[in-house]
Formats: sequence, C-alpha cells, structure tokens
Amino acid sequence: MSVAVDLNRCQGYAQCAFLAPEIFTMHGDEALLYDPDVDETQREKLAQAAAACPVQAILVDAVDEKSAEAVSGAR
Ligand code: SF4
Repeated sequence: MSVAVDLNRCQGYAQCAFLAPEIFTMHGDEALLYDPDVDETQREKLAQAAAACPVQAILVDAVDEKSAEAVSGAR
C-alpha cells in the first residue's frame, strides 16, 4: 500500500502525524516527513489520517491500480 502527500497542499497542520505517527512525522514547524510504503497493518490509521487532513493532501494508494495488482500478485 502506498501513500503520497501533495506537499503543495500540505499546510503542516500535523493532524496526520498525530493520528498516524508511524507513518507521518513533523520535522520542525512545517516540514512533513512520511514513509510512502505503508504496511497493511497501518491501513486503518492511514485512512484516519487521510480523512483528518484539512486540505485533503494525503493520497492513499497513489499508484495506478494495474501496477498495484502486479505488485500484490507477485507476493
Ligand atoms: S494533516 Fe494534511 S496538512 Fe496537516 S501535516 Fe498532514 S498532510 Fe499536511
């Protein structure tokens, strides 16, 4: 499962870092760091973080579906 953050939209509200600290961390006041390759066990937290982002900057499963299928099919 992959996640991307549109850093042009992100305003550094840190809702995501509060809800899913395993995935998102704030670095300083506004810089957001995140792990783009999210483990399945974090899916619920990621969904909560994405829903809580005030500017909808968090894009879950940003890869197109065909490549996602190819990746899961290979496992
Ligand atoms: S909740 Fe949204 S705006 Fe806030 S830091 Fe996370 S991605 Fe950025």
